[in-house]
Amino acid sequence: MIRVRFAPSPTGLLHIGNARVAVFNWLFAQRHKGAFILRIEDTDVARSDKKYITQLIEDLHWLGLSWQEGPDVGGNYGPYLQSERQHIYSDICQKFLNEELAYRCYCTPEELEERRKIARLTGKPPRYDNRCRILTDKQKRAFEESGLPYTIRFKVPEEIIVFEDLIRGTCQFDMSLTGDFVIMRSDRTPSFHFAVTVDDTLMQITHVIRGEDHLSNTPCHILLFHALKQKPPQFAHLSLTMGTDHTLLSKRHGAFSLSEYRKLGYLPEAILNYMMLLGWSPRDKKEKFRVEDIVETFEIGVMSKASSIFDQQKLDWLGGQYIREADLDRLMNLAIPYLQTAGFTPTDENKIDKTRLKLIIDAARSNMSCMSQIVEESNIFFKDLVVSETHAAFLSSEISQSVLVLFYRELQKATVLSPQNFKEILTIIQKETKIGGKGLYLPIRLALTGREHGPELHSIARILGIETCKIRVERFLVKKI
Ligand code: GLU
Repeated sequence: MIRVRFAPSPTGLLHIGNARVAVFNWLFAQRHKGAFILRIEDTDVARSDKKYITQLIEDLHWLGLSWQEGPDVGGNYGPYLQSERQHIYSDICQKFLNEELAYRCYCTPEELEERRKIARLTGKPPRYDNRCRILTDKQKRAFEESGLPYTIRFKVPEEIIVFEDLIRGTCQFDMSLTGDFVIMRSDRTPSFHFAVTVDDTLMQITHVIRGEDHLSNTPCHILLFHALKQKPPQFAHLSLTMGTDHTLLSKRHGAFSLSEYRKLGYLPEAILNYMMLLGWSPRDKKEKFRVEDIVETFEIGVMSKASSIFDQQKLDWLGGQYIREADLDRLMNLAIPYLQTAGFTPTDENKIDKTRLKLIIDAARSNMSCMSQIVEESNIFFKDLVVSETHAAFLSSEISQSVLVLFYRELQKATVLSPQNFKEILTIIQKETKIGGKGLYLPIRLALTGREHGPELHSIARILGIETCKIRVERFLVKKI
């Protein structure tokens, strides 16, 4: 059975680049009917925070991902928080010491830093020089008696490590260039390399799918798998996601954490769809697709080796596509909190005119990428107009006035304002004034909304109703009727 894991470190909010790693692991598990496991790598006690664990679980669920094993759901290979697995790492480390696969290193951080500095100055690789590997028994005893803190280092054999990466093909590393690395820190917590390998072994992970930034760690992990007498899993290193300036994606590029996207009211299916486009595309090259439709054909091997570029515009385009086809009741429920905060709708939900609200959302959604934009897109229905001086001047022009006067006259006659009779009204004005197109629409739009763009004019008129339309137009009539 295929078993994959997503192993975030809870040191901050889940960024869209990291969440993408979760998505591809999950998709791979779905595709091969395997297990998707969530493991929290929280051995860095100083930087890890429980609140980030809760948040990332919430964010991944929001995205629509679920896992068969993890800290919140349990499983046969737990615990799934590395901070609860300390005894396991200690036992295995002791075994490594007994088998002389590892040794105690008494070099202090200051000494190590000093040697790295000298190496840099003399143009040598700043790797550990393995000096504690060859301590004499006498030296060892002296160090032990001194009670000095020590780390435990793994003896790196001088081998060439070759492995087949599912995305990047054959990868080769000369381990004679790597110094013996730490597997247990002086505070007795495991190093990243050690905890990952021990856990991947005990959790029987078959495929490690992670970011390309971990590629150079993989040969160290392979050596540890060998020491654990475990066949290494298969590896797939996903290319990284960059900003449009080709530097590693960050907040600077307008890319947010999942929870921020959620707060902005992007629909999760749009985010999920977009994340899948980062480094992968379906055979038919369509950019909009539902996960259910691609699971059967997903092949990790065809993922791009080149880094992907995060494109906020494309994400917004997709966001808009999903909003346009979403169920209106769902959108209304998502919109209400934003509208309440803006003071547009009552805080008591029972007092909200939901029929009108749905009409508003339906009219506004064609201009939205995320639900928080409802405030901006709907304020013409909730707030008094602010018309710029330029627009006011345009509305007082003779040509605009001829349109507005007739529009006002027709409003006075009208008993309903359906899309159908709104169209009829416009036809009447067009015939009488011989003004068509923008010359006809713009004065009406500006008088009703104060803006040049927005929802369809007939929807605006219908939602505002005859009386409000009359009030709004009347204030721009130069000669009062
Ligand atoms: N905790 C690591 C990270 O957040 C994951 C390492 C791995 O997937 O092996 O980058």
